[in-house]
Amino acid sequence: MAKKLLLAGGGHAHMMVLASLRKFRDLGHLVTVIQPSPHHYYSGMGPGMLGQTYQPEEIRFATRQVVEKQGCAFILDKVARVEPAANRVILESGAAVAYDVVSFNIGSNVSGHIPVEKSETIFPVKPIERLQEAQQLILRLGAGKPLNVGIVGGGPSAVEIAGNIWGLAQKNGLQPVTITIFARTSIMKGFPDGVRSLAINSLNRRKIQIIEHCSVSKIEKDRIEIDSRQIYGLDVIFVAVGVRPSHVFRKSGMAIGPEGGLVVNRYLQSIDYPNVFGGGDCIYFQDSPLDKVGVYAVRENPVLLHNLMAALEGKEMREFDPGGEYLLIFNLGDGTGIFRKKRLLFNGRLAFFLKDSIDRRFMKKFQALER
Ligand SMILES: Cc1cc2nc3c(=O)[nH]c(=O)nc-3n(C[C@H](O)[C@H](O)[C@H](O)COP(=O)(O)OP(=O)(O)OC[C@H]3O[C@@H](n4cnc5c(N)ncnc54)[C@H](O)[C@@H]3O)c2cc1C
Repeated sequence: MAKKLLLAGGGHAHMMVLASLRKFRDLGHLVTVIQPSPHHYYSGMGPGMLGQTYQPEEIRFATRQVVEKQGCAFILDKVARVEPAANRVILESGAAVAYDVVSFNIGSNVSGHIPVEKSETIFPVKPIERLQEAQQLILRLGAGKPLNVGIVGGGPSAVEIAGNIWGLAQKNGLQPVTITIFARTSIMKGFPDGVRSLAINSLNRRKIQIIEHCSVSKIEKDRIEIDSRQIYGLDVIFVAVGVRPSHVFRKSGMAIGPEGGLVVNRYLQSIDYPNVFGGGDCIYFQDSPLDKVGVYAVRENPVLLHNLMAALEGKEMREFDPGGEYLLIFNLGDGTGIFRKKRLLFNGRLAFFLKDSIDRRFMKKFQALER
C-alpha cells in the first residue's frame, strides 16, 4: 500500500536516500522533502568557499532539482515542530504535513550563551551558505580600508575560518586585515598536543592573533565585549562557539539527549516513535554518543536508506555501526592542511590535497544526480 515518506532536511545523512527516491516512488510511495533552501551546502568545504578555493556551486547539492526530477515533492520551508502522536510535522509557515514514516536530518545550529546581536556584520558559521555573504562583505570593506576581523570560538571551525580569511585577503590584495581568534579555553582544546601546535604555528606564522582563555560576554555589530568590561572594535565577526542539535525535538516533547538531539537506537530510529528516524548532527545515538562531524552523517547513509525502505515495506531493519576512529583533515586556508588519523599526524600541502580530493569526490558523486 502506498505510504507517505517525509524527509525533513536534505543533509549529509540523507544523500543516499535522495539519490534513490525513484525506487521509493516506483514502489508506489509518496516522498516529500522539506528544506529551507533549494540547495544543501557541504560544510567541510565551507571555509574553502570563504577563502575562494571553491565557488559556491562547487560545494552545494541541488536538493530541490534532484527531488523533483525523480517525481517527488519538495517544500521550501522549515520544520518548526513535530506532532508525533498525530504523525505530522508543523512547518514555520504554519502548514501541517502528514507522514507514515519520517526521517530527520536537520543538522545543528551555532549555539552558546553569549548574546549575539542580529547584524549583517555578524556570521555564525552555520548555515554555511552565509559564508558567501561574509566573503563579499570582507572583499567590499577590505578594498578600501584596513580591517579588523574577529572569530569567537577556538575549535577547528574557528581555525579554518581564520586561515581562510587570511587566504582571501592574500588572493585579493586587500588592505591589511587583522584577524583575531577569541577562544574561551585553549585553542583546539581536546585535540592532541601535536595537532594543537601545528595549528598554532600555522596561525602564528601568518600573524593571526590568538587570545585564549577570554570569556566573550556580548557580540554586537561592530564590537565584542570580554569579561563584561573590555571592548574590541571589529568590522566583521564570525561566531564559531560550537553547535547544538536543532531545537525541533525539544519543542515537540520527544525523547532528547543532553544537547537536544533526537534519541535514536541502533536502527537510527526514535526510541519512542518507531516510524521516526534521524541522522547527522540532529540525533543523539543512544548506544555511544557521536561527535558532531560530517563523517558520521555520511556513514549513516546506507543504514537510513535501508531502514526507511524497511519501515515502509515491513521488512527487517539493519543496525548502524559508527565504525572506528575517523580521519580529520583541517583546511588552513593557505593551500596546506593538518591530517590526523589515529597516530598518523602531518601537515602541509599533501594534507590539503587529500582533503580536497576526498571532498570533491563526495560532491561530484552526488552532483551527478543533478544532470
Ligand atoms: C565551518 C565548519 C566546517 C566543518 N568541517 C567539517 C569537516 O571538514 N569534516 C567533518 O566531518 N565535519 C565538518 N564539520 C561538521 C559538519 O558540518 C557537521 O557534522 C555536518 O554538517 C552534519 O551534517 P548534517 O547533515 O547533520 O547537518 P547540516 O549539514 O547542517 O544539514 C542540515 C540540512 O537540514 C536543513 N535544515 C535545517 N533545519 C531544518 C528544518 N528545521 N527543517 C528542514 N530542514 C532543515 C538545512 O538547510 C541543511 O540542508 C564542519 C562544521 C562547520 C561549521
